[in-house]
Amino acid sequence: MVRIRICPRCKEPNLRNAVNVSGWLAPDLYECSCGYIGRFFVEIDTEDYKLDEEELSKE
Ligand SMILES: [Zn+2]
Repeated sequence: MVRIRICPRCKEPNLRNAVNVSGWLAPDLYECSCGYIGRFFVEIDTEDYKLDEEELSKE
C-alpha cells in the first residue's frame, strides 16, 4: 500500500514543499498548482485515490 499526499482543496496529488519569500524551503508548508498553500494535506492510499477518480468520472 502506497500513501500519497493530496491537496485538501482540489484533491489532486500536486502538493510540493513550499518555498518562502527568501528562497528557503519551508518544510511545514505545502503548495499546490491550484494556488493552495498551507500546513494541511490529506494523506490517502493510492487505492482510495483510484476510487475517487472513478466516482468523479461518473458525473
Ligand atoms: Zn490543489
